[in-house]
Amino acid sequence: MIKCRWSYLMLLIFIVPVMYGCASTHVSTLPAYKTARPQLAVVPYGIKKELNQFKIRPWKYIVIHHTASDSGDAASIGKYHKEKRGWVNGLGYDFLIGNGNGSRDGQIEVGSRWNKQIDGAHAGNSEYNKHGIGICLVGNFDTDRPTNRQITSLLHLIDYLQKRCNINKDNVIMHKTFRKTVCPGKHFPYDMLLARLK
Ligand SMILES: [Zn+2]
Repeated sequence: MIKCRWSYLMLLIFIVPVMYGCASTHVSTLPAYKTARPQLAVVPYGIKKELNQFKIRPWKYIVIHHTASDSGDAASIGKYHKEKRGWVNGLGYDFLIGNGNGSRDGQIEVGSRWNKQIDGAHAGNSEYNKHGIGICLVGNFDTDRPTNRQITSLLHLIDYLQKRCNINKDNVIMHKTFRKTVCPGKHFPYDMLLARLK
């Protein structure tokens, strides 16, 4: 009786898998596993390292702006915000994406508000200053369009922030979504952007 059970067990362990094809030869119908695509492929390593280095507060929105100027960089706009607007923390946005006139075309500059994880000064609205990450593209998109490099950097940055802060694409919004303003301008390709986000 014991021998019989043992034989039966052997049959189950060794013979049946051979008959039906063992697990290692099974062809899955699931799509092939893709390794995570590199994030921030166009973002310099230094910036990525800077973004990853600290804990973040619970952000809910990503708010997109334009500078409504032809040129600028984080230093010059931060100086303007500090001296002319009287904002002691300087640059009101968390990130600035250059257009080649001031900083490089598509260059992402990380503002000190992001590094300190403090409220923004970009929304004109306390809910969105407190819970919204402000990304500003240099340019006036009421009369012009963002450069391809700016859009590429914006897509990578938003993709990164969505994952890092767990922000749904419904909460990737424009300044004019919640406030009476033209920002980020009528030529900002918002629909195209949303279509390319996850
Ligand atoms: Zn704005």
